[in-house]
Amino acid sequence: MILGGVVIKFKKIQFIEQDEKFTFDDRIVVIERDENQNPLFAHFRCPCGCGKEIILPLYETSKPYWDVFIKKRNVSFYPSIYLSNSECQSHFWIIKNKVLWSEDLYEDYY
Ligand SMILES: [Zn+2]
Repeated sequence: MILGGVVIKFKKIQFIEQDEKFTFDDRIVVIERDENQNPLFAHFRCPCGCGKEIILPLYETSKPYWDVFIKKRNVSFYPSIYLSNSECQSHFWIIKNKVLWSEDLYEDYY
């Protein structure tokens, strides 16, 4: 993984309504919400730089789904995001807008 050790951070969160159009930006996490402001999906590009557009379901009836935590201008997701079907095989956490590569976190245990 070439990006090991490099700190990557999303610079902001953009909220949109359900099905609202938006543009993918490398540094923005887009949160799509329903009419009651409940989060539906998160949209962002893979932070490894491969350009893949990632869509995370954020509602509990989806399998799988991610918990999203938004505090002030920071977003975190739980659990980690693993692009096992993607060529880049990226596996990372997003905590307070920061990308934490799984390999960096766990390399001591391999
Ligand atoms: Zn990638």
